[in-house]
Amino acid sequence: MTNDLRFPARSYDFTPYVPCNNWIGGEWTPSAAGDSLPIDNPRHGKSFGQVTMSGAADVARAVEAARAAFPGWRDTPIKERVQVLFRLKALLERDLEELAWLVSHENGKVIGEARADVLKGIECLEYGISLQNMVAGEQLDVSRGINCSITYEPLGVCAGIVPFNFPVMVPLWMLPQALVSGNTFILKPSEVVPYGAMKLAELLREAGLPAGVFNTVNGGQAAVEAIADHPDIKAVGFVGSTRVAKAVYSRSAAAGKRALCLGGAKNHLLVVPDADIELTSTTVVASAYGCAGQRCMAASLMIAVGEVDPIVDAIVANARKLRLGEDMGPVIHGGAVERITNYIADAERRGAKVLLDGRGARGPGGVGHWVGPTILDHVKPDMPAGCEEIFGPVLSIIRARTVDEALAIENASAYGNAASIFTQSGAVARYCVERFEAGMCGVNIGVPVPREPFSFGGWNQSLFGAGDLTGWDGLRFWTRARKLTTRWQLSKDATWMS
Ligand code: NAD
Repeated sequence: MTNDLRFPARSYDFTPYVPCNNWIGGEWTPSAAGDSLPIDNPRHGKSFGQVTMSGAADVARAVEAARAAFPGWRDTPIKERVQVLFRLKALLERDLEELAWLVSHENGKVIGEARADVLKGIECLEYGISLQNMVAGEQLDVSRGINCSITYEPLGVCAGIVPFNFPVMVPLWMLPQALVSGNTFILKPSEVVPYGAMKLAELLREAGLPAGVFNTVNGGQAAVEAIADHPDIKAVGFVGSTRVAKAVYSRSAAAGKRALCLGGAKNHLLVVPDADIELTSTTVVASAYGCAGQRCMAASLMIAVGEVDPIVDAIVANARKLRLGEDMGPVIHGGAVERITNYIADAERRGAKVLLDGRGARGPGGVGHWVGPTILDHVKPDMPAGCEEIFGPVLSIIRARTVDEALAIENASAYGNAASIFTQSGAVARYCVERFEAGMCGVNIGVPVPREPFSFGGWNQSLFGAGDLTGWDGLRFWTRARKLTTRWQLSKDATWMS
């Protein structure tokens, strides 16, 4: 079965119905049980497709296809493997607009954000392609007359499990690295945004990837658990919420496979009175409401230190200007609207002041899953403000009298452990850096540069497993390093290792 996957629509009301099946061994295949879920377009809340929901039998089928394809792909010279990914890059560029519209429809991002998702994905692909220059290995003289070479070899069948918020970019954090190093791959897309992965499968086929090297299995928890349990899947990469990252890590590790699971990634903003008003307000608004606050790094918690009301007023004024559907999209589904509005109501009940209220917002046409930009002031430090579970266009402001108090709030929070500091003062910046370095707060702070108007940085993932999925760490994750003694000089002066 094949799907003619064309998304030419540029219109806001796009609702063609395209079934999304599993891509296994080069065929579009519905799940064995025949279960499926509707795929909602968050802009208007109407279903525009149906995604097949898989279980253990479907994962087993994908593993079989990936196992069968492995020897041929492993034995394909790396220079030829990367050619497929070079062609994928050209195809992604060719179809950039179509992909951007697709992401915009399934995820709700405004078109510029959707385009950025694809462009960032292409950058990750470029990085993956460059691994061909590292995968060659290393060599070292370990003793007199004994030379050891290290080669990086594929593991076999690998899998990636991804979240809803970047349907194209996050899969491309993983699959180029895994494929370049000679593995075959099974992707489990988010069941609410499965079309990005579907389009990637189509483009990989067009790029000449042999059948079975890349497969998709759609579904939710049942599919993920089957991936974690399957003895022939050697490595699992995961990106998503901390709760699920932890569960996937434990289950995969218990089944004896290597797992690297990235969860959360929230950080706090610290704003002090001397921060530049314009830069701070525009940056905070861009960070809090870009992608409707559904970015792992979206600023959702700001600690306002001392008298910063003019800055808060400017943030409210800038947030108020955002046009729904133009500058900010909807949230992913009706459940997200409910979760976010419940949080706003809870915060209000506990004394927060609602400076900007996005509840009941209507997007274009008055339909879809919308919450407008929201700002809550005087939020209690023990609220789950800024936590990833809220994940929407809400900025919570906690008030602190001093920088020390702000750092203590940040340190006590379960959701932060990293911070970005907005100040024009090198002394304040240095003080915060010292406090961070003294271990008072978490890692990954943005290092402020004196005389820069502000600093912005700080990002901390809850990481289960070590390293990263991309770059040099990614190469090590998706391969096993094998050491070979390649030159023994069997002379009297060779030094044998004990
Ligand atoms: P999620 O954790 O709900 O889902 C991620 C994946 O896990 C999906 O494929 C989903 O189908 C699957 N899944 C969901 N519940 C499961 C369960 N109980 N058992 C097994 N699998 C399950 O995340 P999401 O809502 O799709 O994405 C948003 C989250 O991702 C946010 O928490 C955000 O902070 C995080 N995120 C983190 C990063 C990072 O770099 N650390 C990047 C992007 C998103």
